[in-house]
Amino acid sequence: RLNGKNSISSNRSDRPICIVGGGLVGSMAACTLAKRGYQVKLYEMREDIRKMEVVRGKSINLALSERGRSAFRLLGLEDEMLNNYAIPMKGRMIHETSGRKRFIPYGREDQAIYSISRRHLNEALLNFAEKMQNIEIHFSHKLVNCNLDKGELEFKDLNTKSTKSDEASVIIGCDGAHSKVRLELMKRTRLNFSQTYIDHGYLELCIQPDPITGNHALEVNYLHIWPRGTFMMIALPNLDKTYTVTLFMPFRQFKAIKTPEKLIDFFTTYFPDSIPLIGRENLIKTFFDVGPSPLISVKCDPYHYKDRALIIGDAAHAMVPFYGQGMNCGFEDVTILNELLNESHLPQSLAKFSAIRVKDGHAICELALYNYIEMRDLVNSRLFLLRKRFDNI
Ligand code: FAD
Repeated sequence: RLNGKNSISSNRSDRPICIVGGGLVGSMAACTLAKRGYQVKLYEMREDIRKMEVVRGKSINLALSERGRSAFRLLGLEDEMLNNYAIPMKGRMIHETSGRKRFIPYGREDQAIYSISRRHLNEALLNFAEKMQNIEIHFSHKLVNCNLDKGELEFKDLNTKSTKSDEASVIIGCDGAHSKVRLELMKRTRLNFSQTYIDHGYLELCIQPDPITGNHALEVNYLHIWPRGTFMMIALPNLDKTYTVTLFMPFRQFKAIKTPEKLIDFFTTYFPDSIPLIGRENLIKTFFDVGPSPLISVKCDPYHYKDRALIIGDAAHAMVPFYGQGMNCGFEDVTILNELLNESHLPQSLAKFSAIRVKDGHAICELALYNYIEMRDLVNSRLFLLRKRFDNI
């Protein structure tokens, strides 16, 4: 089925690079490779998010750090992203149950990580990609089949329901934690793979702007943390003066909170200062309407197949979000690939990429798991007594 239909060329080196997945890492990879002069085709399963009113999916905002910023620097987009779309966070603001707050700086006074909207990031990269003559973007195209040896790909056009084929010199899978490209790699090479769902899930809530001042309702330049031993809540500021709040907790604990009364009781005990900020009604509605999402960690080795295919970003090393490094590491993958291209052409760089990147990918997945304990357990042991009250949930 992959042979012939709609195919564009037969000489492999004349073919474009096909990138599967136009999320954060795929769109960054497309821009970076096109800037080097490669012909790139970017295939994304979703419709164009720039035309969507509501974009569903993972976290609304993310912490951007040096790993990620260096990829924007390569495109000449760093200043635009930091000045127009990001809010610097100088450190952690710890909320104790008493209402007392403590500040823990991330580094020197002039150092910060940046809270930035996933949508703004993705849109800025797609806008950049669209301006490049040598990038073709296909939205609503889902990869359904591919032959890595032949460089052939088959997509389902989700609008017309028709099937389309393409041919690539190199296939780059940026199609996330449940990557189809990775599945194809696993069929063809001795790829070691493991995935782990942790027992904890996450739920996103929202803090609206202060109704009187219209400003951020909490101190703005911080990553707010409510560490509570076996669970925690965090809040990152948004440009529209809201905060995206994320509650991380064991699934069994989410499940045990069965009524609005129990939810308010739970929040009154552990996160009392957050109730007026989130609002009782909003808290109850989101908690019971939305429910928690899972968190996955993925490791594999290698990341490439011959000189034909490569996986990067979450497709190669999805990690739990507690180190705030999933996207940043995906962007760093692109920076490293770009550096390798100073020495050799893309097909010859794939094995080198695995050789230097796999051990780092594994290490950051481990660090991310460890940092959950670090973040959620920062609090006084006094909380231990409180926790006993909720031992049944
Ligand atoms: P994805 O974002 O998953 O994008 C994959 C893309 O591929 C999607 O657009 C999808 O539609 C497309 N796709 C999938 N299958 C196909 C197919 N068959 N055909 C075509 N297209 C396909 N990271 C940070 O660095 N900092 C943070 O603060 C941070 N916070 C987080 C908070 C939470 C709650 C979570 C869950 C994650 C967080 N992360 C954070 C991690 C970050 O979200 C991911 O690492 C990042 O989104 C990975 O980008 P990606 O492009 O590799 O994958």
